[in-house]
Amino acid sequence: MNLSAKLRKIEIVISIMLVISLVLSSTIYATTEASKRSEAEKAGNKASELYQKVGEAEAKIKAIQDDINNKQAEINTTKENIEKTKVDIEKQNELLNDRLSVMYKTGSLGLIEVILSSNNVNELLTNISIVQRILTNDKKVLKDLKNKRKDLETLEENLSKQEEELKKSQGEVQNIRDEYKANADEYKRQQQELIDEANRLAAETAKAQAEAEKKLAEQGSAGGSSGGYLWPLPVNGVITSGYGYRSDPFLGTRSYHNGIDIAAPLGTPIRSVADGYVTLSSWYGGYGNCVIISIGGGKSTLYGHMNSRACSAGQYVSKGQVVGYLGTTGRSTGPHLHFTLFQNGVDINPYSLY
Ligand SMILES: [Zn+2]
Repeated sequence: MNLSAKLRKIEIVISIMLVISLVLSSTIYATTEASKRSEAEKAGNKASELYQKVGEAEAKIKAIQDDINNKQAEINTTKENIEKTKVDIEKQNELLNDRLSVMYKTGSLGLIEVILSSNNVNELLTNISIVQRILTNDKKVLKDLKNKRKDLETLEENLSKQEEELKKSQGEVQNIRDEYKANADEYKRQQQELIDEANRLAAETAKAQAEAEKKLAEQGSAGGSSGGYLWPLPVNGVITSGYGYRSDPFLGTRSYHNGIDIAAPLGTPIRSVADGYVTLSSWYGGYGNCVIISIGGGKSTLYGHMNSRACSAGQYVSKGQVVGYLGTTGRSTGPHLHFTLFQNGVDINPYSLY
């Protein structure tokens, strides 16, 4: 293998690893409450979208049902007409039979009667012709009725076929509806699961927060707000992403940002903004190396994407104490500090401190 082929191979391996790490980090990121809520919202939206499609399919099913009902009404009318025609045919048959039987009884074509009732040859010929015409007409009416019945039977057959087609297409739409419905229900279920998980995480956070508040009270520290809160870095840094809704750097979609991103050189010391009690110092999903410090008054601060951490959970820290060093760990696109401020477990604008 030549050098360029080797390099290409290494490049491919690195790309694959990058993709895997991105997937993993976004999976891990899903452990935080905010991301659960946002996932739940997405699942909920998907469910609504699908339920709308279920509604559309149901409207279509109803429209087809109307068509089927119309066809059935047409079929019923046709059947009634066929019955009527059958009766007419019977009547006509009887009429013809009567005439024929009279003729048989009275001799060929009822000639005796015709002859006896005729006063002269001309009248006789006219009368014979009338009898023949009556017979021909009777036969013609019968033939027409039989044709009519045949046409009606063909019509009924066609209508039944059309009804079958309609039922088939209705069945197809019903299947589509059922599929949408099943998917929608599944998304709905996922949404509920995510909400439950988010609530569970929120409850855990609240519990940790309450414990931290207790610890701070034991220490006689009501929080380090005396003299104001410190900026979490010794430098101003550059705010690369503000608090609130923003365009997601990974997905390009609009998403919620629960803190501020402050870009500064790698390794810049990160300081606790107040006296506090460390409730978490570990890898924390998309936040990478992360520290959470309760600072009293129901407030809690989160410092994410650290290169390394310089405190541990269950430790008291004083205002300005270095708790870690700026990095780009977790779900991060470059060296920056992600800083979130919570009030009773709910993120609020960090600038409310200053
Ligand atoms: Zn951030």
